[in-house]
Amino acid sequence: MKKTCDQKERENPHIPLSTFQYPLSNTHYPKMKRIGAHVSIAGGIENAPLNAGKIGAKAFAMFTKNQRQWKAPALSPASVEQFRRNCADHGFEPRHILPHDSYLINLGSPEKEKLERSREAFNEEMIRVERLGLTMLNFHPGSHLNGLRPDECLRLIADSINKALEQSENVTAVIENTAGQGSNLGFRFEQLAALIDMTEDKTRIGICLDTCHLHASGYDMGNAEAAKTVFNEFDRTVGMRFLRGMHLNDARHPAGSRLDRHASLGKGTIGLDTFRFIVSSLDFEEIPLILETPDSDIWKEEIAILYSFTGN
Ligand SMILES: [Zn+2]
Ligand SMILES: [Zn+2]
Repeated sequence: MKKTCDQKERENPHIPLSTFQYPLSNTHYPKMKRIGAHVSIAGGIENAPLNAGKIGAKAFAMFTKNQRQWKAPALSPASVEQFRRNCADHGFEPRHILPHDSYLINLGSPEKEKLERSREAFNEEMIRVERLGLTMLNFHPGSHLNGLRPDECLRLIADSINKALEQSENVTAVIENTAGQGSNLGFRFEQLAALIDMTEDKTRIGICLDTCHLHASGYDMGNAEAAKTVFNEFDRTVGMRFLRGMHLNDARHPAGSRLDRHASLGKGTIGLDTFRFIVSSLDFEEIPLILETPDSDIWKEEIAILYSFTGN
């Protein structure tokens, strides 16, 4: 049975959910591009919004815990409170913040034990996200590891998503398209559409498109015209209404390589023309546009370049 907010507060008396508000949403200012980067949580999750602020970001992504470990200590109430305050101080709203799950999780694993472990870890991440007052969790669908047919693996992933959505009331599961490396699924729009189709609550399922992964999986993003064609195909097959965020990465390898190797903007096979098109298009306003480019020392510069294309 679903719990009301009041019930939840009573169960977690240390987290004063109702005493702290994020700034109200976009009624007070015009829509704009929300460009940022996947920032570090070293020293505590509350540092993520500060790290994002330092590089001129208006959105950010982060891991909810050490992404290479299964277990993490629960978030302390002080850390949650500070995280929320730092977000509010920098003007970050939940819809501009795109947490990413652990790389260890495989929601379509053919091995029963690993599947269970992954589902447990993913559910825990959903709860962490909700405690932070956030509304999205970004994840890679999963890999069949040649132990299942792709359609069987997609069914498992969808079951994992349905179970995870039961763990929270407000968090949307945001599936990231993949490069199609190895046996990773989610590299074709048809696969993303199938996952949405099998998700019971369509109001809490979304997509994050990674430009490097698009290009690597064979959706040519090598110039603005090509990118437009890709987004039109995405709209026809999946629907732009499901787009909750993007990862803006150039690619080290040519279109169709199926290799997941990110490059700094303008230094790969996609090129600045495509990124200029994305950040000047009205289709991508108010959703997190996140850099996962390899040189974090130039994120500030990359964000400034992108903003110079948008006019805001
Ligand atoms: Zn990712
Ligand atoms: Zn990505």
